[in-house]
Amino acid sequence: MWSVTPPPHEAEAVFRRCIGRGRDHVRLLRAAPEVAAAAQRYESAATAGQLHTLRPAEFTSAHMTDKELQNTYNNRMVRRSSPGRPVYTQIRQSAPDQICPLCGHRPVASLDHALPKKHFPLLAVAPANLVPCCADCNHTKSEAIPSNPGEVYLHPYFDDVDDDIWLVADIIESAPAAAVFGVSSPTHWNPDLAARVKFHFKSLGLANLYTAQAGSEIRALAYVSAGAHYRDGPDGVREVLADYRDGRRRLHQNTWQAALFQALLSSDWYCDGGFRST
Ligand SMILES: [Zn+2]
Repeated sequence: MWSVTPPPHEAEAVFRRCIGRGRDHVRLLRAAPEVAAAAQRYESAATAGQLHTLRPAEFTSAHMTDKELQNTYNNRMVRRSSPGRPVYTQIRQSAPDQICPLCGHRPVASLDHALPKKHFPLLAVAPANLVPCCADCNHTKSEAIPSNPGEVYLHPYFDDVDDDIWLVADIIESAPAAAVFGVSSPTHWNPDLAARVKFHFKSLGLANLYTAQAGSEIRALAYVSAGAHYRDGPDGVREVLADYRDGRRRLHQNTWQAALFQALLSSDWYCDGGFRST
């Protein structure tokens, strides 16, 4: 999971922009202070890693129905040419390289409600609750409500776990060689953060995604590994893989590619000829 710079927009301003001066706008705008208060509660909880403490009953409006709030997003923010569409587009384009920050691999396809709008309607257009996301991660996250700290997905605006290396891989020393991925939590993380990273990794099916990607990468590396081994033996292979790993880590510490290169260079079997088994 990679961090993304939070959107600069205030929730109430986005809500007012979406409502505009359309039909019934006087009644609908009465919900604006509720939207602002809801966003403030949400941001405080997200900053503290406490999103699981927020309950749906506290995120409904006295002035708008749940459906009206949800449709504010659907019809006045997502729909092309709608008043909120520029904000939608700006948030969607905020992910570096247009890659989903939740899986770090697939392209961004939409915005995900970190807390689902079905259960938290006052957060339907709150920018801090809208995260650029790929179609698969969005679909997998669905409309689940976290009930304990270990069920809160990592939030790209509020959580930054890229200072530590936590994504690791092991090489299956067989023909063909393969990689399996997992989470290794640093000892200085608090237990809630460690549980969240594991939940995020497991629930989004990242182990399978990365293993599938690693297969062709391992085959492609056979050629360069053979050349390095011919010139300098196993240490030559390790050197090339270390360069690849360091190049990836300059972008992000935790990518499946960096974890793969580290695992391969740690495998004496691979570096001393296992690359031929690919
Ligand atoms: Zn994704």
